[in-house]
Amino acid sequence: MKITETTRYSFEDGLDMFVNAPLEELQAMADGIRQIKNPGNRITFVIDTNPNYTNVCTADCLFCAFYRKPGSSEGYTLSVDEVMNIIGKNKELGVTTVLLQGGLHPDLDMEFYTSLVRETIKRFPGINPHFFSAPEIYNMAEVNDLSLEDVLQALWDAGQRTLPGGGAEILSEKIRKKISPKKNKDNLWMRVHETAHKVGFKSTATMMYGSVETPEDILIHLLAIRELQDITNGFTAFIPWSYKKTNTPLEKKMPEWAGETAYYRILAFARIFLDNFDHIQGTWFSEGKDVGIQSLAYGVDDFGGTLFDENVHAATTHINKTTIDEICDMIREGNYIPAQRDTLYNIIESY
Ligand code: SF4
Repeated sequence: MKITETTRYSFEDGLDMFVNAPLEELQAMADGIRQIKNPGNRITFVIDTNPNYTNVCTADCLFCAFYRKPGSSEGYTLSVDEVMNIIGKNKELGVTTVLLQGGLHPDLDMEFYTSLVRETIKRFPGINPHFFSAPEIYNMAEVNDLSLEDVLQALWDAGQRTLPGGGAEILSEKIRKKISPKKNKDNLWMRVHETAHKVGFKSTATMMYGSVETPEDILIHLLAIRELQDITNGFTAFIPWSYKKTNTPLEKKMPEWAGETAYYRILAFARIFLDNFDHIQGTWFSEGKDVGIQSLAYGVDDFGGTLFDENVHAATTHINKTTIDEICDMIREGNYIPAQRDTLYNIIESY
C-alpha cells in the first residue's frame, strides 16, 4: 500500500499499535510517511561538536555517569575563553553547530552564559550556538532569580536562536520521580520549550528510553511533545536514544519491552505518531554504527551529527567516534544520499 497522507492516531490507538503491530508493518508505514515529509532518498547530517563547560551538577540523576557534585575534586568549570578555544579548534574541522551543555551549576551567573553565546557569534561567524538544554535554562533562572522568559530573552538578545532537546528523558511524572527526582519538577522541560518557542527559538525534542519506563510512558511522552508542537510548531525534530547503564547508579537491564529492536520500533512509531514533526533522527552515535545504518530504513530522514567532543555518553564507557567521510559512507551503505545540513535542517551541501 502506498501511503499518501499522514493520519493522527489517538493515545489508545497509538499504544495498541506501538505494542502490537509487527515491526515490518510499522517500518513500511513509517517509510511511506518519510517519503511524504521528506521526498527522495536523502539523509541529512550536521557537522557538530558537543563540548561541556562544566561537569558540576546538583541534580544527581541516577542514570548519569558524567556529573560531579559541587566541591568534588574531579569537578571542572571552563572559562569563556577556554570554551572559545575548543570551538576554535572545531571550526577548523568544519563544524557549523556547537551543542554546548553542562551540569546544573549552583552559582554561575547569567553573564557567563550570555558571554558564551555572544563570544561564539563574534569570534566564529558561521557557527550556530545550539546551547543549553532545558534543565540548564531553568537552573539559570533559579540561580539568578530570574523567570524562564527573562533567561530565554537574554540568550535571544545575545544572539542565540536554537536550543537542544536534552534533559527530557521520559516526560512521565512517575518515571521522572524514579530516575531524576530533582530534575524537570513541575513539567519544567515542557515549560522551557514552550517559552522558548514563544520567544522565537526552534528546538529539538528528545527521549531517553530503556530505563524503567513502560510503553504507556513512551506514549505519554510522545503525546506531550505532539500537543506542544500543535501549539507552537517550534520543534524541528524528534531524537530518541537508549539509556546507557554503565557507571550509573541505575545499572540494570533494559525493561522487557525494550528488546533488541526497540530502537527501530520507536523510530518507526514516532514517524507515524508525530504527524506534526518534520524530521526524525536516527543516529550512528548512541546505538552504534551498525544499528544506526539499519535505523535509516525506519522512517528516519536525519543521521544526527559528527559530535566531535562528546563526554556525557563517554562517561558510561560508550565511546563512539566518527568522521565526515565515515558518516557519508554509512548513509550510502543504507542506500541513501548524504547531505550536510545546518541546525535548522537547511541543506548546505549534497554529497
Ligand atoms: S544528566 Fe545532566 S542534570 Fe542529570 S546529573 Fe547528569 S549532568 Fe546533571
